[in-house]
Amino acid sequence: MEEITAEQIGTLRVLIQLSCAELQALLENSRASSKPVALDEPIGRLSRMDALQHQQMAVASRQIQSQRLQLLRNALKAIERDEYGNCRRCEEPIGYQRLKVRPESPFCLACQSRSERS
Ligand SMILES: [Zn+2]
Repeated sequence: MEEITAEQIGTLRVLIQLSCAELQALLENSRASSKPVALDEPIGRLSRMDALQHQQMAVASRQIQSQRLQLLRNALKAIERDEYGNCRRCEEPIGYQRLKVRPESPFCLACQSRSERS
């Protein structure tokens, strides 16, 4: 795998910043719907179950979103420290194609699939 160039890092940094902003907006918007359903709200039993289900889904997707946001912020820090683009496990270049799809990825594809299997 080839090391990424400074120009590619510049492109990825913009991508990361855009994704960060997008996730922050999503998290901001879903804050209300992830609040626990109030028991004294005057809604019927079915709509309460519906509301609970919506709330649980909102909580789950917010968890995924904030995890990704954290990884993206870590990636930005790695760019600042000039440590971006190499796998944190094997220290091999992650590769531009992979980073373009998942710029927050701290591992190369080989290490990532190895950790997912185990
Ligand atoms: Zn690796």
